[in-house]
Amino acid sequence: MNRERTLVPLVAVLLAAQLAGCEPAERRSRTTPAPPPALRAEGEPPRHDASPGPASAEQAASPSGEHFALRHAATLRAGPLELRSPHRRLAHQIRGSGHTHCAPDHSGIDAAAQQRRLMGLGPDHRHHFVWITAHDFVAPDPDVPGVQHMFGVEIYTKRLEARQSPHVLALLPDGALADPAKRPFGVYELDVQGASSAIARAGGLAVLAHPSRYSPSLEAVKAVDEHLWALEILSGSTDPDANAAFVDARLSAGKYTCLSAGGDIHDEDYKLTLGYQVVDVAGPRPTRDELFEAVRRCNFFACAVKGVRHGPIRRPALELRDGGIHFSSNTVLRSVRFVGRGGEVLHEARSTARASYSPQIGDSYVRVEAVSADGAARCYSQPTWIVQRRQTP
Ligand SMILES: [Zn+2]
Ligand SMILES: [Zn+2]
Repeated sequence: MNRERTLVPLVAVLLAAQLAGCEPAERRSRTTPAPPPALRAEGEPPRHDASPGPASAEQAASPSGEHFALRHAATLRAGPLELRSPHRRLAHQIRGSGHTHCAPDHSGIDAAAQQRRLMGLGPDHRHHFVWITAHDFVAPDPDVPGVQHMFGVEIYTKRLEARQSPHVLALLPDGALADPAKRPFGVYELDVQGASSAIARAGGLAVLAHPSRYSPSLEAVKAVDEHLWALEILSGSTDPDANAAFVDARLSAGKYTCLSAGGDIHDEDYKLTLGYQVVDVAGPRPTRDELFEAVRRCNFFACAVKGVRHGPIRRPALELRDGGIHFSSNTVLRSVRFVGRGGEVLHEARSTARASYSPQIGDSYVRVEAVSADGAARCYSQPTWIVQRRQTP
């Protein structure tokens, strides 16, 4: 109880700070052709870039074979390289928030109300499913018709030296841990590694929430093993470029990591579309098990729109063929960027609905960032993992 009372003002102050800082940061990222140099400089020390030979490619690739998404990835041989991508185009795409709060945490709004307003955003923005991720407890299914409840929780992990607590989301397969009175992963008890491993043991998916807020250092995030399944690239009002620095640091260190998205929605209205997953599924109404499995395989895009008066990026798709990575959508895009090691922009296409990039020896991963023509919508692909095949003498 004391914890909640002290957190409310802290969160309010931080939220206000983020609101004040959000607009300029977003505008900056949309008019600058490459990520800010500071992000790239922090992303990965140069010594990693200096040895792109077969040995380093093997070293980089080996730990990531453990990531669930790679075990089910589509693969393509391209000369000396093998490309692996979680994306598979299926008949339908459905939308859902990866990070939504509900009372009795300090969000002040109940789970059913959250799901109803996300479902009611109109045909371009309606959510088909919602991961309810309340602080520290797993909320029961409120049984709202027309929307799939997905079980989750946002955990306060052990405080760092500067006293902030990194937040880790658990996306859970079922309601086995659902109980507003229980704290199944503790409060301020586990560190990010401990929480990630505990979530994996519970059959769930661990996501570092809003990496650029309350986070450990880049070095500490890189050190966590692949029980940390994803990082939030889009998370409410946080700056996606600042979150991307953590994503690129981890990928550059050879840890395969998926990109997730959620509005981090409390009781405010403006964040409803500021982060959601666009999942490829075979039918329009997948069961909870089918949806969990699709998300676990990372067959989704992380997307956001500034508000409901702007259109989303429609039908994002990523395919491996003809030796390359092909991104397309049904929306004209201002920019499609192919981003690789250390956050480097490898290729950028402008004013187009589709773009391609053929990976080179030395690329260890390639991920795509797409921004709509009006600059209001964006989608991030999952990383395509690039493995150098062993050469036969
Ligand atoms: Zn949080
Ligand atoms: Zn949150």
